[in-house]
Amino acid sequence: MSEHKTVVCPYCGFGCRLLVDPKTMKVKPYPGEPNRGKLCPKGLYALEFVFSRDRLRRPLKREGQKMRPISWGQAMEEISHKLLEIRELYGPDAVAFIASSKVSNEENYLLQKIARLFGTNNIDNCARLCHEASVHALKLALGTGAQTNPYEDLENFNAILIWGYNPAETHPVVMDYILKAKKKGAKVIVVDVRETRTMAFADYKLVIRPGTDIVLANAMANVIIGEELYDEEFVKARTRGFSEIRMAVRKYTPEYAEKVTGIPAGTIHEAARTFALAGSGAVMWGMGLTQHVSGVENVLAVINLALLLGYIGEKGGLYPMRGQNNVQGAAYMGALSEFLPGYVPLTDEKFRKRVASLWGVDDLPTERGLYLTELWEAIERGDVKALYIVGENPAVSEADFMRVRRALRKLDLLVVQEVFMTRTARYAHYVLPASAFCEKSGSYMNSERRIQWGHKICEPMGDSKPDWEILTMLGRALGLPGFSYSSVEEITAEYFRLFPELEERSVDELKNGEGIFLPRKRLHTWDFATPDGRARLFAVERVRPWEEPDKEFPFVLTTVRLISHYNTGEMTLRSPSLVKLMGEPRVLINEHDARKLGIRDGDWVEIETRRGRIRMRAKLGGAPEGVVVVPFHFKANRITSPALNKAGTPELKFSACRIRKLRSG
Ligand code: SF4
Repeated sequence: MSEHKTVVCPYCGFGCRLLVDPKTMKVKPYPGEPNRGKLCPKGLYALEFVFSRDRLRRPLKREGQKMRPISWGQAMEEISHKLLEIRELYGPDAVAFIASSKVSNEENYLLQKIARLFGTNNIDNCARLCHEASVHALKLALGTGAQTNPYEDLENFNAILIWGYNPAETHPVVMDYILKAKKKGAKVIVVDVRETRTMAFADYKLVIRPGTDIVLANAMANVIIGEELYDEEFVKARTRGFSEIRMAVRKYTPEYAEKVTGIPAGTIHEAARTFALAGSGAVMWGMGLTQHVSGVENVLAVINLALLLGYIGEKGGLYPMRGQNNVQGAAYMGALSEFLPGYVPLTDEKFRKRVASLWGVDDLPTERGLYLTELWEAIERGDVKALYIVGENPAVSEADFMRVRRALRKLDLLVVQEVFMTRTARYAHYVLPASAFCEKSGSYMNSERRIQWGHKICEPMGDSKPDWEILTMLGRALGLPGFSYSSVEEITAEYFRLFPELEERSVDELKNGEGIFLPRKRLHTWDFATPDGRARLFAVERVRPWEEPDKEFPFVLTTVRLISHYNTGEMTLRSPSLVKLMGEPRVLINEHDARKLGIRDGDWVEIETRRGRIRMRAKLGGAPEGVVVVPFHFKANRITSPALNKAGTPELKFSACRIRKLRSG
């Protein structure tokens, strides 16, 4: 028997498992599903940040400008007293909670349970910043809000359409699945605003003008319908809305689309035909689609393509690829302001009362809570007085973050439960030290909805505690019912009871097996989760970006992710091996634009939007004319656009900006 224990990689939503030797803390890739013996650099060096000297070791309380150590007992007493006082004075909605895509299912489940028993649906997580637009679109079209098929299906499809998504950098292990499919003959079509690393493997490279995705998707639908390439039987039997979409896409000819998107009409024709004639196919997308004011409509437009072709179930799948290791779990556990666990709407009285009864109360609040992205204005207005954050760093991750920092300063109470003293934690009244992923046990759900167990490998650093223990203490201190947990497994067993598909499964099975899919491996093989069991085709029209380039701000600023970094950099920047791999972040500028502006490779430049300015060294190339590409991990959100789409996701992929040279590099 191997001495190794398995943990789930704490980085991207692919959900690789790591085999760790607890004696040496050496990491090896797990040979089984889903990573099949592969890891990217982030997974290989996943333990480095855990042993950083910067780890928080004791609870801290602000006294003036200083943070002083405080006992756990005193911290819980003071925090709960203040929360109850605020509820008494202003009502439960004056308090908000932010859950984390980096903590376990059990921990997200507990935080949303605390929020709802406290009396508010002001509970949200960073899914709001990335794929909430996908959830809304998928719910509208299919009735469910997540990836429909497992990764293993990718290898068997004859075509893969990758849209606004760069797996070669963001989910390197999924590239392996895509390349295996390609080796078997699958055609790979990549749509992006620049030539990405993923595009290097594409049969069709569709470099699109930012913000014109709906025009391209509608033009592809125009070809598929016009040339009668759609799956008539599937469309007739399993969808609604075909005549509306046929009418709507009529004007989106490839020739019209060429003018708007910049992609030659012939290429659009060919890509649409290739995808349609493949006979089976996946549509994969990332934040290139969702982080726009048109995010929901963008996703609906690409879902249409899969539905027209019947690429659902055995013949195809929809893959909104998740960014963080447990963003899918956070959402599924109900850490969203408009959904109960399992994406069940708050208005579903039967389910809501079932949850309430499991928690020992009669009912739960029914009004939608504030989106994470709506919180800052609510704090400015004085509607929200207290904020409890678990493992999130909105002072860096939110668009136009200076307004977030202003709001954080206004709170009567800010509690941050964290591993490091993040930029957000610096504004807190109380900072509670949380254990890292390998210092505790718990379950995580990856992008394909596979729940996997992460085993405890080592003891918590200093006086830090697993988040579930801290939240159990908080629930008790607040006097909420049902917080008598003495092990994380008791919480797992409790959330299992909410899902009929898990009722027959045991926590031991989860701990010892290859994971459990919730609700099942493949969705919609026979029907859709809509009232009549049919999917909906939506006729969507182009939605323009919130701010378009003009004379003053003539460039489009877009943000991207880098292979060796992760989110706001709090973990990866404390991993020496990853820092070494990455080198210095640079802004990518098109060579022709750079020449006009007198900018050379390595020069320091200033990028300015209506929100402010950032400075960075320039790298020439890798961006089309008129587009400026900035890695999002560090300071880009100082200047990004806070405009929200229907799902509350900000338009991080599109801001009008200008650039100027500061000095030679
Ligand atoms: Fe971790 Fe994602 Fe890399 Fe796998 S692909 S090792 S889950 S960061």
